Amino acid sequence: MKTDFLIIGGGAIGLCSAIALLEEGYKVTLIDRNVAGSEASWAGGGILSPLCSWDYSETVTSLAERSMGMFQDMAERLLHDTGIDPEYQRCGMLILPPFQEEMARDWCDRHQVRFQRVASGITGIQDEGFFMPDIAQVRNPRLLQALQRRFEMLGGSMLEHREALSFEISGCKITALNTDKGKLNADAYIIAAGAWSRTLLGEHAMGMEVRPIRGQMLLFKFDIPPFSNILLQKKLYIIPRKDGHVLAGSTLEDVGFDKRTTTEAREYLLERVHALFPGWPDPIRQWAGLRPGSPDNIPTIGVHPRLSNLYANCGHFRYGVTMSPASARLLLDAIHNRADPAYRWRE
Ligand SMILES: Cc1cc2nc3c(=O)[nH]c(=O)nc-3n(C[C@H](O)[C@H](O)[C@H](O)COP(=O)(O)OP(=O)(O)OC[C@H]3O[C@@H](n4cnc5c(N)ncnc54)[C@H](O)[C@@H]3O)c2cc1C
Repeated sequence: MKTDFLIIGGGAIGLCSAIALLEEGYKVTLIDRNVAGSEASWAGGGILSPLCSWDYSETVTSLAERSMGMFQDMAERLLHDTGIDPEYQRCGMLILPPFQEEMARDWCDRHQVRFQRVASGITGIQDEGFFMPDIAQVRNPRLLQALQRRFEMLGGSMLEHREALSFEISGCKITALNTDKGKLNADAYIIAAGAWSRTLLGEHAMGMEVRPIRGQMLLFKFDIPPFSNILLQKKLYIIPRKDGHVLAGSTLEDVGFDKRTTTEAREYLLERVHALFPGWPDPIRQWAGLRPGSPDNIPTIGVHPRLSNLYANCGHFRYGVTMSPASARLLLDAIHNRADPAYRWRE
């Protein structure tokens, strides 16, 4: 098998990278040790924005804003091309008190982001909330199905249940990828293995710091959605889908590669939800995913400092779904020697 790019990891980042390369006319093979789209990108909430953008650096903001500006068009094109609806909706996000109002206003003014002070609409919360009407969401499992379908339509080659194990190297180049089912060769290799990226790279990780940070979610079901916008209160977010499913999350747990759900997290999330909505029923499901945690939430997108045919697109931490289309563009820029140094692979 001859391929230009071999991508390791079939989450939102690997799939968006693959599609961007296929659309440029490259031959692309993608491998995933499970089923593509079954890890963090599936487990996430699909909010298309940092939670409180004013808490993050301009490096995070500029990548997130660029991506947010691409999402509606990407979702519409995916629906048109694949028939699968990622359910992009500009539902808005209501931030409930307490929050840092001055910082929020100042950030919105500087970034020309619309906001309104509105009544919270929730019994027991007298203070006004901070509504950001342009924040959107996608139904991330459907987005992943659509991306995968688009990848296949463009002629990408997908190898699932295939685990990357190690690299063979000669001089400053990778010559082969060893997998659990034999060697694979490509002109260049892209690490998009999410939380597992650093472990897979081993000694070749250099200064890349990516580690798993577990997040747990609860799922509720209503006949009709109880409200239409995302709610955020002190790290708890509640995301209503159009069909009455409602997600509540999430935890931030530094527990290694442990994807189990816990009773503590269920009780914590349920207590927070019931403090706002005492009458809500029990959740119908709980799950956990491993975010690709990285310092200051800044991903690594670029070429390896020593191996000239190895690239990374990983470490998107809390916002990898949001950042996926723009990260794919940055990866293409790096491949064309126009890398953005803000996201470079550190020695
Ligand atoms: C609870 C939770 C809520 C979140 N909410 C949001 C949100 O609202 N908005 C947002 O933008 N982001 C959110 N995120 C973060 C977002 O989900 C991640 O940043 C994003 O999914 C990372 O995408 P990825 O493709 O890098 O990783 P993943 O989706 O984890 O994909 C990595 C892939 O690599 C594969 N892989 C790993 N090792 C190997 C190997 N050795 N060989 C072959 N394949 C391998 C895995 O099987 C996996 O499919 C949330 C995350 C969690 C857990």
